[in-house]
Amino acid sequence: MTIEANYTRWVLMPRSVSQITEFEECPYKSWLKRVERIEPRPAAWSTHGTAFHTAAEHFEKSGRELTADQAVTVFQDEYSKGINRDLGKVNDIDQWMRANRGTAADDLEDRFAKGTEQTRRYVEYVQDQAPVLWRPDGEAPAVEMYFKVDFEGVKLRGYIDQVVLNKDETLRVRDLKTGSTKSKFQLWVYGLALNQLYPDEQVTNGDWYLAKDHRVSRPVKMADADQDAITERIVSMDQGVKSGDFPAKPGFGCRFCDVSHACSFRSRS
Ligand code: SF4
Repeated sequence: MTIEANYTRWVLMPRSVSQITEFEECPYKSWLKRVERIEPRPAAWSTHGTAFHTAAEHFEKSGRELTADQAVTVFQDEYSKGINRDLGKVNDIDQWMRANRGTAADDLEDRFAKGTEQTRRYVEYVQDQAPVLWRPDGEAPAVEMYFKVDFEGVKLRGYIDQVVLNKDETLRVRDLKTGSTKSKFQLWVYGLALNQLYPDEQVTNGDWYLAKDHRVSRPVKMADADQDAITERIVSMDQGVKSGDFPAKPGFGCRFCDVSHACSFRSRS
């Protein structure tokens, strides 16, 4: 596809929380990825997160019938598949992104071991605490729940990791985290999206399942969400894409930028 066709496609596509945060961080990064289609450098942390989510999803969709060993097998298969796919794109792992010091090879092995342990501990957490997942249609649990909603004319879509039923029958949005970055904005947007789609339900809070600590975070109240400010962020990002202006914002974020190899503005500080 041409640059023009890529740009038009981006202008017309629905937004997502990750698109918005990426654009706010550095509009030029979004341009490089979505219009110039620069191949991002692989990151094992990303595959680690995806494989953990897949294992938790399989476990929940099995009606929690999968054993811990079976859930771990799902994690390990997904992780290996993802790493092999990325090796097919960038064979030299020293070019890969990594968050910690040490070699890229160590990082790959370390995340395989950590993800294995985190998956096992997730199963133990569920068996011990028995969180009740919401069943919007009375049957399937709300896991990796797709939504598409509208904020002031801007379409926004995404997948909610889990929706949990609180003891008082209100709803709680839950995001599963293998990393440490937490976004209240994301939880609030997902809560507002649920409110739009299910006006008869009450979404009162959100939280994170923290795989590193094998526990759930303190809840974030939906009552603290400033709906006008959230809508403003979404609309402003959409207008930014349509404006055709994509300034670079070099800074700390350049260290974790997966398209920095194609950027002449990169900060090395
Ligand atoms: S390297 Fe820095 S300035 Fe360049 S695109 Fe990435 S985040 Fe933006």
